[in-house]
Amino acid sequence: MVQITGSCLCGQLHYAGDTEIMGAMSCHCDACRKATGAIHSTNIFVADADITITGETLEFEHKSDSGSTMTKINCAKCGSPTLGRNTNRPGGLVLRAGSLDQKDLIKPGGYVFCENAVPSTVMDPALKQFPKMPT
Ligand SMILES: [Zn+2]
Ligand SMILES: [Zn+2]
Repeated sequence: MVQITGSCLCGQLHYAGDTEIMGAMSCHCDACRKATGAIHSTNIFVADADITITGETLEFEHKSDSGSTMTKINCAKCGSPTLGRNTNRPGGLVLRAGSLDQKDLIKPGGYVFCENAVPSTVMDPALKQFPKMPT
């Protein structure tokens, strides 16, 4: 178990908990790019039940390629993309890696949706690259 904390840019939306990091992936899908404004998004997966979220959120739902409902959870004040949920992963919570305070815990295991990657993106050749989301 590790103790984690994180927040949006303004600090209004905050999360904390003792949890097990179940995985982390850098995602190159179009939705992550558009939702974050970054050319790819590193997403960390933890158990929702471990994390206490405080502050007002602005939530937006959309359908993923696989038909699941994705919820983007952003700060209601500064708008920073901070957390997410996916109906394909019940009980799971996605941390937008950039919101995490413990930088040493951000260790992506690979890259997903590489077929959608921006061509100039530099990727670590030591990590696996998947054209889509591996099942
Ligand atoms: Zn904020
Ligand atoms: Zn994505």
